[in-house]
Amino acid sequence: MALEKNSKSLDSEQEKSQNEEVLRRDLTNLENKTEIESQSLEVSKENDNGFQDFGFNQSILNSLRNKGYKNPTPIQKAAIPELMLGRDLLGQAQTGTGKTAAFALPLIEKLADNKELNAKVLVMTPTRELATQVAESFKSYSSESSNFKTVAIYGGTDYRNQISALKRKVDVVVGTPGRIMDHIRQGTFKIKDINCLVLDEADEMLNMGFLEDIEWIIDQLPDNKQMVLFSATMPSEIRNIAKKYLNDPAEILIKSVKKETQLISQKFLYVQRHHKLDALKRILELNNEGVIIFVRTKLLTTSIAEALENSGHTVAVLNGDIPQNQRENTVDRLKKGFINILVATDVAARGLDVERIKLVVNYDFPFDKETYTHRIGRTGRAGRSGEAILFVNQREKHFLRNLENSTRTKIEEINIPSNKIINEKRMEKLIENVNESFIAKDENEALIIDLIDNLKEKHSMDDSNIAMSAINLVIGNKAFFVNEDDSWIHKQNNTDRNRSNRNGNNRMKNSNRRNNYQNDSFETYKFNFGKFDGVRVANIISSICNSTNINGRSIGKIQIFNDYSLVDLPRDLHRETKNKLKKIKVRN
Ligand code: AMP
Repeated sequence: MALEKNSKSLDSEQEKSQNEEVLRRDLTNLENKTEIESQSLEVSKENDNGFQDFGFNQSILNSLRNKGYKNPTPIQKAAIPELMLGRDLLGQAQTGTGKTAAFALPLIEKLADNKELNAKVLVMTPTRELATQVAESFKSYSSESSNFKTVAIYGGTDYRNQISALKRKVDVVVGTPGRIMDHIRQGTFKIKDINCLVLDEADEMLNMGFLEDIEWIIDQLPDNKQMVLFSATMPSEIRNIAKKYLNDPAEILIKSVKKETQLISQKFLYVQRHHKLDALKRILELNNEGVIIFVRTKLLTTSIAEALENSGHTVAVLNGDIPQNQRENTVDRLKKGFINILVATDVAARGLDVERIKLVVNYDFPFDKETYTHRIGRTGRAGRSGEAILFVNQREKHFLRNLENSTRTKIEEINIPSNKIINEKRMEKLIENVNESFIAKDENEALIIDLIDNLKEKHSMDDSNIAMSAINLVIGNKAFFVNEDDSWIHKQNNTDRNRSNRNGNNRMKNSNRRNNYQNDSFETYKFNFGKFDGVRVANIISSICNSTNINGRSIGKIQIFNDYSLVDLPRDLHRETKNKLKKIKVRN
């Protein structure tokens, strides 16, 4: 009954705006797919009725009011009516779009009068953090609904509390695949009444190797359940799962318009305290135009600036001791490019807005999430892209994990640039400079031609002798290539990220180890299949192992690009193995 009333009032409202018409077309199933462009959390403003039009009971509306939600986000507008009608749903949306409420609210509404003891809804998430968050969301949206119970079950914690919670009345169970399987097998999670299954962040579950587990769980659940699948990306594996298990699903795609922080590629590297300055200098070898380095103390700003100046960089300092007018002058010089690098404390750099900042280095770990977000926001200004690198020592590992959780971003690990990388970069720059000098400076052309003729006639030099001398002049007296001992870098880089308690999943640990492992015993092979072919790390490993005698453990880093993949394999492979590699097929 509630549902019928609902869709009628929704219909009359929808005639009012163009935007809503799209939704109505979708509801009547003329077009099965809704595409919405959205800022991460943009609530629709054209409809002041907020959540009331969905026909939610008063308890839900009260809890939404308590939470301060006034209007639904685009994904909520599109998904809630579908789920209220009991349809299956395939949604492509990132976190931050309001997708949790999009599935939680209609499910809570449907369970409003549930008197059963056993759970009716199961939500599967890839990590325990997400399981906790989703369970918390269910709890808060149902906080005004009497006797509504949500239980979270995930690995890495004691079974006893979970078992006793599952014994009492429960409406929704949120959990990670491994622990859900354990409880089903032990009979401590009664699934016979489950009539709705939500797969949240399905692509992440697949990346973590949970496909088999998910399929096993789906097979145990009763037939004819409502299925909801949310995924940030839609690779072919996810589409296949959708095809296999979802019944005529409504499809919703939220195309998120990138926010400024999303234009910033966030990275971290492991470095011991006494190697930080060396690591910084190496980072600046790759990027030294428009950089802010954040440090914790005023004293450090000056000592680091001095060290960088001695290495030939143009640097300035911004700290609380520097008078306001001097600070303004510094920022101005940075904007104009007279200074390339700024070493700053957090307070001094507050609100700094310089478009040419391409890189933010978190030399010292930020005190909290807000400081981190503020720091990295100094790059990626005005729609440009930027990079942020965070220095992490062994003791700060758990801060890193907390930071990732609280900012809900995955910070990618990178290595400190080795001699090889730096030398390649220096070479690249030199070639670029030589090439640019060839085209520029018309006014000197006659003079240079005279000079070359002179060198050829009087000094019997040929073209390559002249080029060699000119390049030597550019390089100067200093050694062009770095060749100092860089073995310490490999030691830092080989540190296992040890993020096992993220989800207790061994496959994840292995893949991290694979990414961190980098040394000279590897050679990089290029294969002509990539993301467009639906290829994943696991496919590549299994194909290589099945077609050659290479052991999975000896495969190094694997990088999958759109139409090719790079795989680090042991150096000096036998010719026969190399021939086999040439012929390998992945996913046929
Ligand atoms: P999610 O994408 O589900 O992780 O949600 C992102 C954030 O948006 C969470 O902090 C939610 O509490 C919040 N949120 C979800 N829906 C709304 C809404 N309609 N109005 C305001 N905040 C919301």
